[in-house]
Amino acid sequence: MLGLMQDWPLLCHRIIDHAAIQHGERPVVTRSVEGPIHTTNYAQIRTRALKVAQRLDRDGIKLGDRVATLAWNTWRHLECWYGILGIGAIYHTVNPRLFPEQICWIVNHAEDRMMFVDLTFLPILEKNAHGLKTIERYVVLTDAAHMPKTTLKNAVSYEEWIAEADSDFAWKSFDENTAAGMCYTSGTTGNPKGVLYSHRSNVLHAFMASLPDAKGIAARDVVLPVVPLFHANCWSLAFSTPLTGASLILPGARLDGPSIYELLDKYKVTFTAGVPTVWLALLQELEKTGGKLPYLKRIVIGGSASPRAMTQKFQDNYGVEVIHAWGMTEMSPLGSLCTMKPEYAALTGEAKLDIQMKQGHPPFGVEMKITDDSGKPLPWDGKTFGRLKVRGPAVARRYFKDDSEILDKEGFFDTGDVATMDPHGYMQITDRSKDVIKSGGEWISSIDLENLAVGHPKVAEAAVIGVQHPKWDERPLLVIVLKKDQKASKDEILAFMQGKIAKWWMPDDVAFVEEIPHTATGKILKTELRERFKDYRLPVQ
Ligand code: AMP
Repeated sequence: MLGLMQDWPLLCHRIIDHAAIQHGERPVVTRSVEGPIHTTNYAQIRTRALKVAQRLDRDGIKLGDRVATLAWNTWRHLECWYGILGIGAIYHTVNPRLFPEQICWIVNHAEDRMMFVDLTFLPILEKNAHGLKTIERYVVLTDAAHMPKTTLKNAVSYEEWIAEADSDFAWKSFDENTAAGMCYTSGTTGNPKGVLYSHRSNVLHAFMASLPDAKGIAARDVVLPVVPLFHANCWSLAFSTPLTGASLILPGARLDGPSIYELLDKYKVTFTAGVPTVWLALLQELEKTGGKLPYLKRIVIGGSASPRAMTQKFQDNYGVEVIHAWGMTEMSPLGSLCTMKPEYAALTGEAKLDIQMKQGHPPFGVEMKITDDSGKPLPWDGKTFGRLKVRGPAVARRYFKDDSEILDKEGFFDTGDVATMDPHGYMQITDRSKDVIKSGGEWISSIDLENLAVGHPKVAEAAVIGVQHPKWDERPLLVIVLKKDQKASKDEILAFMQGKIAKWWMPDDVAFVEEIPHTATGKILKTELRERFKDYRLPVQ
């Protein structure tokens, strides 16, 4: 027997409809790519998204067609998202920080038919346009006054393009399992893989993301997504913010410490989210200027592990609650958030920080298990680490144009991360399975060592890699970038770590470098570090 409730497909554009009806006047403020601050609201965003949909329809873009965006977080980019979604086409956010060859590869693989592009990226696109085989037209996200001369095919300014539409258009209607969005994994090895979200997965994921023990955003919040729309589905903020009706502040192209601080302060932002490197820059700015964060209540830190010192500074010096979060492109992307269950709610100081070093517990809609290499489940004791596997309605079951099986017999996806689970269901990443250091048959967590090393006051960034060892197979090498104008010796760094980890975890050596290589989404590029240090000889005792 089937239930007798209405059939109301979970379609993403219903979110902007809701925002326009219930929260129509709520401000959406952008630092525009052209420079000045621009203000609009959800009602206007919806009207202009309808124009985008109408224009795409007229340009022959159909259900299932891919439309690329190469753009910062702006109101125009958001309008494009909803306009593309509203006709059943697929937004494909391309990360502009990738190498041009990777961008070409991804766009060709996705067979994108059109591209919305910010002014910032015109020069690089013009140089590489010959490699973009499938794009029929470029829409430059600006107005006629700022539209430069360009050699890009059929290029038109966005404002002129949508001015040809009147918004007298109805969203198309289709099954909720229809593909909605596409994002390629940042892939540190091999070609990137296309993750294809559906309308249903995005809407369910937006509900999950908004829960009180997840991001807990409410209509009275002011949300600044520092995380770009092109990074892992913008951690759902392009959906969960209008869904909850919170006001939206978009940083455009300027993600440096002073620019972010200015927006946080001027627009009384209460909630923000981004990767640790951005927050490092903000903390440096605050320390330099003596700035305060009186309005900011919560900050989500994810994408890489949030260093203990960072969490502590935000909480103790600025009164901002840190929510450590973990996820991945394949998970839409949220997997877990470190909010406090009653078991931990009374903790303070170092004991609370110990818990906040964990990546947290999964919201409803994400199931987790840890297993050994043979797939046998491991205990949730907070100590045993194993492969982290996940299952849920917003987790990928296949990659785009790839028939490989990526789920185990029970339908779980292997995240490639290694983690512990504690008795209260809190997960802690100890490593990527590729990065874990295998010493004498035992595993050493590179992340734990890195977290410890960055706690040293002279250390700006740390990375730990396994280096070949004649007796133990691999031993940890600690690679360090010192803070500006600081000097430190190997012994000084190792003495700092002494007693805080098991003896056999101690790095065998420390290498000081000017810079640590990063991926396009700010993660340490360990493949390159390993390559750089492949002939490194550890001092053998
Ligand atoms: P991406 O798909 O680019 O978002 O990358 C996902 C990967 O980033 C995960 O599989 C983790 O290895 C890593 N990651 C994300 N968040 C965290 C975190 N809070 N701590 C440690 N690693 C993280």
